[in-house]
Amino acid sequence: MLELKGLNFRYNNPENSFELSNINLEISPGEFVTILGPNGSGKSTLLNLISGEFRALKGEILFNNKPYLEYKRKEIAKRISFVPQKYYSVYPFSIYEIVAMGRTPYLNFLGFEKEEDIIKINEALKLVGIEHLKNYSINSVSGGEAQRAFIARAIVQDPELMLLDEPNAHLDLEHQISIFNLLKSLNQEKKLTILMVSHDINLAANYGKRMILMKQGQIYLDAENSKVLTTENIQKVFNVDAKVYTYGKNINVALFPNN
Ligand code: ADP
Ligand code: MG
Repeated sequence: MLELKGLNFRYNNPENSFELSNINLEISPGEFVTILGPNGSGKSTLLNLISGEFRALKGEILFNNKPYLEYKRKEIAKRISFVPQKYYSVYPFSIYEIVAMGRTPYLNFLGFEKEEDIIKINEALKLVGIEHLKNYSINSVSGGEAQRAFIARAIVQDPELMLLDEPNAHLDLEHQISIFNLLKSLNQEKKLTILMVSHDINLAANYGKRMILMKQGQIYLDAENSKVLTTENIQKVFNVDAKVYTYGKNINVALFPNN
């Protein structure tokens, strides 16, 4: 479905020597893949390249075997949705309006929502549990509620691939689990392919099947969770001591202070 071949990227900033180098990655339909790595390792940069926000200096991205550059922006927007790490609201859009933006690629030239669009928007609001907030301004709700609005916006896009950048960053424990459960059900029931950056190694371990570890702008390791999550790999990438326990199908990573 998604193929990255020899991707290279640099920011146009002479003070910043960060480089994303030689990224090769293939994602198949129906996968649930998580990306982990220390701050500044290039996770968000990579997602921005895949979402089409940034353009690579070298290499190629293919979606369904067709190079990205041959797609119109609107065609990509119907297939790939992106829940970014940061959002800046300049205008106090309502939660409903934020979610409705996900339907933009489907609207006719007049930009009117059809009955079908309205149904989808309301369904998504319900799914992420913020239907009661739909008339509130995005600026007036909590970080977690805003985050769920952006996830609902990604859902109404009806994508084949959903990219998420730390979707659980602002969420309390209950909502972290509920968002991960929602993503899991979208993945299993609607065959939505998911590529997600997460800092929560335990949630990533138990929801995704395959994990990509990034370090200093490169893919350090890309394999199934049980192969990636070892004391040695966690030490090399995150520089912390960890033990990995398995309970049946569950994996639990316990961190220990360096001593
Ligand atoms: P991560 O998401 O893994 O924390 P990022 O991809 O956000 O890492 O950042 C990788 C590196 O690129 C960091 O050193 C960061 O400072 C730098 N960087 C990120 N965004 C920009 C930007 N817009 N301009 C210049 N440098 C940037
Ligand atoms: Mg990031």
